[in-house]
Formats: sequence, C-alpha cells, structure tokens
Amino acid sequence: MIAEVITDVSAHPVDRPFDYIVPERMEAVIERGARVKVPFGNRKVLGFVTAFKDTSDVPVNKLRPVDELLDLEPVLSTEMLELADWMRETTLCFEIDALQVMLPSALRAKYEKVIHIIRAEQLGEEVARFVGSRKTVAVKEFPEPMLPALKRLAKEGAVSIETAIRQRTAVKKERVLVIAGPEQLDHVHALVKKGARRQAELLEWLQSHAGETIPSRDVMEMTGTTRATVRALIEKGAAAEEQVEVYRKPEVGLLPEAAGDPVVLTGEQADAVGRISASADEGREETFLLHGITGSGKTEVYMQVIRRVLEQGKEAIVLVPEISLTPQITSRFKKRFGPLVAVMHSGLSAGEKYDEWRKIQRGEVKVVVGARSAVFAPFRNIGVIILDEEHESSYKQEDSPRYHARDVAIRRAKMHGCPVILGSATPSLESFARAHKGVYTLLSLTERAKQQPLPEVRIVDMREELKNGNRSMFSVELAEAIRDRLEKGEQTVLFLNRRGYSSFVLCRDCGTAVQCPNCDISLTYHRATERLQCHYCGHEEQVPLTCPECGSEHIRFFGTGTQKVQEELHRLLPEARVLRMDVDTTRQKGSHEKLLRQFGEGEADILLGTQMIAKGLDFPNITLVGVLSADTMLRLSDFRAAEKTFQLLTQVSGRAGRHEKEGEVYIQTYAPEHYAVELAKDQAFEPFYGIEMANRKRFSYPPFYYITLIRFSHEDLMTVSDRAQKAVAWLTDKLGPDSLIIGPTASEVARVNNRYRYQCLIKYKKEPKLAGVLTDLVQIYRNTWMKEGLLMSIDMNPSSI
Ligand code: ADP
Ligand code: ZN
Ligand code: ZN
Repeated sequence: MIAEVITDVSAHPVDRPFDYIVPERMEAVIERGARVKVPFGNRKVLGFVTAFKDTSDVPVNKLRPVDELLDLEPVLSTEMLELADWMRETTLCFEIDALQVMLPSALRAKYEKVIHIIRAEQLGEEVARFVGSRKTVAVKEFPEPMLPALKRLAKEGAVSIETAIRQRTAVKKERVLVIAGPEQLDHVHALVKKGARRQAELLEWLQSHAGETIPSRDVMEMTGTTRATVRALIEKGAAAEEQVEVYRKPEVGLLPEAAGDPVVLTGEQADAVGRISASADEGREETFLLHGITGSGKTEVYMQVIRRVLEQGKEAIVLVPEISLTPQITSRFKKRFGPLVAVMHSGLSAGEKYDEWRKIQRGEVKVVVGARSAVFAPFRNIGVIILDEEHESSYKQEDSPRYHARDVAIRRAKMHGCPVILGSATPSLESFARAHKGVYTLLSLTERAKQQPLPEVRIVDMREELKNGNRSMFSVELAEAIRDRLEKGEQTVLFLNRRGYSSFVLCRDCGTAVQCPNCDISLTYHRATERLQCHYCGHEEQVPLTCPECGSEHIRFFGTGTQKVQEELHRLLPEARVLRMDVDTTRQKGSHEKLLRQFGEGEADILLGTQMIAKGLDFPNITLVGVLSADTMLRLSDFRAAEKTFQLLTQVSGRAGRHEKEGEVYIQTYAPEHYAVELAKDQAFEPFYGIEMANRKRFSYPPFYYITLIRFSHEDLMTVSDRAQKAVAWLTDKLGPDSLIIGPTASEVARVNNRYRYQCLIKYKKEPKLAGVLTDLVQIYRNTWMKEGLLMSIDMNPSSI
C-alpha cells in the first residue's frame, strides 16, 4: 500500500504529493486526511495523507516508509481535502498552505533543533550532567556557554544535531477519580485501620458519592485531604484514578445588555427569515445579500435562521470581522444558543483554539462564531453560513493562501447544499452588483428595528474653522456638543482614523490633496525618495511648496495620533473622563473587553479610539459620535478609498442613538462636498453606489474589471526591476489584448526589510487563459527566479492595491 503525502516543505519548487510506503502495522488504521511524519531528504517532516494507491512511478526500492501516523481520526475530511485543491487552483498557493490554513495552529508542526546523543561516554562532565539520562535534548534548552562544546561533540560524532517535529499543543488532561460502588466501598471500610482518621473521613465522603466520577483536584479541595490520603484509598480499591481529556475554558463573562430571548420580528425581518429558511429547508445553495441599515436587526435575522437550521439537526457558521468580534456579539449568541456555541478569535491561546476546534470536530457544538478562518470549521452538515459586515477587507487573507472568506463560504455552501447570508449596512460594490444582476438574492431592511430614528448627522467644514483661527483638532461645534453631553451625563464616542497616517499631502486652506494628473487618485508621498508618486500609472513629481490649487503655504502631511488627541481633549475639557482604545491600549489579552465594560458601566464620559470602536458598540447612553478626520481614508491612493470612507462613516454614525435616547453625529472634514462624506450623512447607500459604480467603470476597476496584483521583491534593486519587467513582458505576450497590464512600478513602500519591492497589476473582464498563464509564470518563478532570492506573490482580487 502506497500513500500520497503532501509534505510540509514550504516553497519547494514542485508542488505535488510524494509517495511513501505504508508499513503493514499502519495499513488498517491510516486514513485520508490524517497527519503523518515522513522522511524528506535528511529531515523528518509533517505531511498529510491525500490518497492511497497500489503502485508508484518511483521504483519501490527508492520509496521510503511513513515514519509515524499522528492521527487515528483524520483531521481533514474529504470535503476539506477537495476544498484545499480548489484553493490551490483559485489562489495559486502551495497545497500545503491550503491544508494548514484550515487547521488550528496547534495541529501544525513546529520544528526544533535537537541534540541526539550517540556516545554518552564522550560528552564530558558538564554536558553529561546537563543531559542526564535523556537521549534527545532541544538545543535551546542548553545554556549558551555550552554551545561551543556541543559543536565540537557533533564534529567528533558523539552527538548529532537534528531537526525534530514537536507537537505544539497537546490535549489537556486532568486526573479524575472513578469512585467505586457502595458495596466495594463497604468492603474498603474494613481495610481502613482504626487510627487512620483522614482516610476514614475521605472514605465517608466517597460513600456519599459512590459510583460518580469527579476530578481528583476537586475531591481534594472539597474534602481538604492530601494526595497521599487519596492514594492510600485508591490502593485499597475505593476508587480508580484516570486521565481524561478536558477543555480549557476561555470563558468571558456575558455582558448584561445581551438580549437572550427571541423578539417579535418586524415585517421586513420576518420576510428575510422566511425566504432564507425556505432556501435552507430545500437545501438550496443560494447566496443572500442582507442589506440592512445599522440597527435594523440583521443579527436577529441571523439568529432566527440559525434556530431553524439547528432544529433540522444542522450546523451554522457565523463569521464576524476580527475587529468587531467583541464580547457584545458573542454574548448575544451564547445567551441565545448556550453551550452549543464555540467562539474562535485571535485572543484565544493556541490551546484554547484547539479545544474549540475539537468541540466542532466532535459535534459537541453546533454554531461557531468566529473571525475569517472559522469558515473552515470542520462541521459535517452545514445548514447556513453567515458573513456579517461582508464588505470588510479583513475577510481577505493577506498572505498565502490569499483566500477570501466569502468565496470559501460560497464554495462550502455548494458542497453542503445550504444558503449563505452576506449581511451589511454598506455592502461591497462587488456584492451589490452581483445582487443587481441576480447572482445573489437581495433582501433589504430599511428601518431600524426599534423604530429609533437614524441619528442627526452634521458635517463640519474644518477649512472654515481654520479661517476663523481655530487650529485645534476639535471644531467649536463638536467641542460644544461634547461639553453638553458631559453636563447631561451622557456618553460620547470619538473616532480617529489612523490609517493613511502622513501618507498624503493636504492643503489646510482649500482641502485639496495633491492628485495624479492621469488618474483620479491622490499621490502618495514616498519617504525614501521624498517625492510624490502614483502607483497606478507610475507618475512621479516633487512635493510642492505651495498648494497647486490655491497657492496657500499651509500644505502639509496629514495625520494625527490618538495620544495627541487625548492630550488636546484634556486641555479642552479637563474634567472629562476619557478612555482611549487603540492598538497601544489593547495589546494585552482581554483589555478590549475590559475597556468596553468600563465604558458600558459608565466609568468614562468619552471613548476615544481608532477603527476598532467603529463596529458592534451598542450602549444606550451613547448619544454623541464625533469623527475627527473623515478625510484620512479618502486620501489613500486606493481605488476603494471612497467606498471605505463611506462604509466607515456609516458604521461610526450607527453607534449613536441605538436605543431610547436620540443620537447626534459630527463629521469633521476638509472635503465636505465629497460624495462619500455627503451621502454617508443619510446612509444613502444606493445613491453612493450609483456614483461609485460610474467611477469604477470609467477607470476600469472592480466590479467592472477583475484585478490581479503581482508583487516582486529582492535585495537588489536592479534584479527586482529586471525580473518584474521580464514577467510583464511575458504576460503581455501570453495574455489576450483585452487584459490591461499596468506596471511594473515600485510599490508604495518601496523597500521593506532591505528588500526592494515592485508590483504590476492585471485588469481583465474575461480572461479564460489567465489561470493557466499565471500557473506557468509561477513555474518559471519556482524554477529560476526563486533560486536567485526573488520573491513573487500573486494576489487574485486583492482587497487593496
Ligand atoms: P444590526 O445588526 O442590523 O445593526 P441588531 O441586530 O444589532 O442590528 O439590532 C439592533 C437592536 O435592535 C438590538 O438591540 C436588537 O436587540 C434590537 N432588535 C432587533 N430586532 C428587533 C425586533 N424585531 N424588535 C425589537 N428589537 C429588536
Ligand atoms: Zn489649497
Ligand atoms: Zn496616476
């Protein structure tokens, strides 16, 4: 019997399975999708069994046997193996990357340099004492001064240095006492000596728990006895001690606001639930776009569909962007579905994630709420897959495999015959266009669930503030509004967008950002060259000293940090209690939740933060939202800049007045007339969609054209520019005339870690040859350029350029 194994050898020039002989002892138990340890060259590596066969093209005497079978239960199902093939084809990644991304990191191999002792008698006193009776010791365990001695010993052949596989996280085990039955315990009673008071007491306690299984630690804690006493009774036969698997408990307290019981649906909600459920009942692989304004009750729709799916004995996957995977949303699901819910997010330790994964694998939970990678939850009978905030770019993985969770969800739904729900107040242009074409089914929620009006949104023209001599980050109006809330004891959320920090040049008088003459996009300031560049068309120019529009000298790089804002806020309103939430204050595990809880409990008047506060926040006392700089994102040289600005402003505004008290929003901007700002004011998605689609069409961007981004990097500037040009020439030759190839140009950050970066962009409507041509390009790369130290990556449908 021969097994085909995909080995964990990254960046190997050939991406195919290798053949191994299955030793007889494994034949009966080895299965597809199990992990194995196999020899590869002079190493041992981890691999995945993908197929079995009787014969191999490699002569039998050249084949090597599988070393070890790591899983009796395969970690990947047939569905997952097929999904990996599909990901490899559609994202052009290595098969091994596709396989590994589906599993919790605890199941990936970690390699470690170890010293294997060959001749213990030669080690010398010091090393011998350190090694003791061990045969293998990890190199990193040795104290630094011992390393030269080890090197010498390796030369002499007394030890060998090898790379070993280390399992990262094992199943957690706990000792439990299996307490004997009453008759047996009576029998033990006779064996306990008269003076053994502690044993007698413990035995009495055990008699009241005859036949039960209780963790040993709990028994000792509850009875106040020591291990010695427990052991003495075990020896007499009062109980048996066993090791059992347990789950680590990442439990966080449920927030009090979370609503547990289902509510009476509004007409629109009921209609949405009805149509999705009908699709689920019939096992149709239909994709729904649930377009509902903020606060319209999309989450309630998800939960009622899930209830229906669970009743049919099926499972549900709920994806949420990492940034909004707050305790608020997980509490809502846990309150509704209790212990049937697993939660997966980056805040969990590797062991905790592994435990959640095992609960899913074993069918102990039926719903998973998680970030992007939860789309690979190993459920076997999925009834619905939900992507909340489907427009979020975090659903796209930035490195290999560069998959989009939306695509994977739709693919899995096809395999399981179930609906997908894409939910958003501001759908991506791609999804909305598909809904218009009828590829997706559009469902709309146009009213807020509790009939609260949308918050009053005011746009503040910061150019006017400047004219009136206010150089502060706070407009007079916003400062006044914050003061007013302080007096009323209501809460304020202040939002600062830090993305795009200092990367564009803006005139503070007329609000103009310096634009590319050829494209409708702001130029990007390149620190390295101190010039402005367009990385769509390659145009380059000097940083102007005065504004090209109005001649003002108040032209500068734009951007401010939250810390600076906090200082200014303190000067302005010394009595206000401010919580700051950004990457710096949320580094610690659980700090995100802690800050939210504090704010929810009224321990602060103002919550100041970046992107991470834009979503999910739902507290009744928030009546004011301030956006300090709506422009920062708008000025990014990304064709999605307007879309992202619109989405963000809509989201942020949606944080105010979600409950009884009415909300008010101030958006400060230097570009009040920009359509993304103006239309976000009224959450006017469809008008925005109309204008933005026209722009995309004019400049040949998605959803009218697909785009593929190819990046190159190398330590040497000449090499990277030359290979990038060769690649472009090759692509131009192979691809049809309808494909637009732009570049190569230097990347926005032209050098990272001392590597120079280039990129080129392919735009196409239909290019049947593309996959084949790119696969060939990858082969050229792996055969030649990769060996020269060049890195090339291909991103089909990148989330930004
Ligand atoms: P979205 O996800 O669309 O922003 P949510 O599902 O968070 O909206 O709902 C907003 C608020 O309205 C929540 O507090 C929720 O509990 C409540 N809600 C949702 N549906 C209803 C309903 N049918 N009746 C009353 N309240 C509702
Ligand atoms: Zn100007
Ligand atoms: Zn340009």
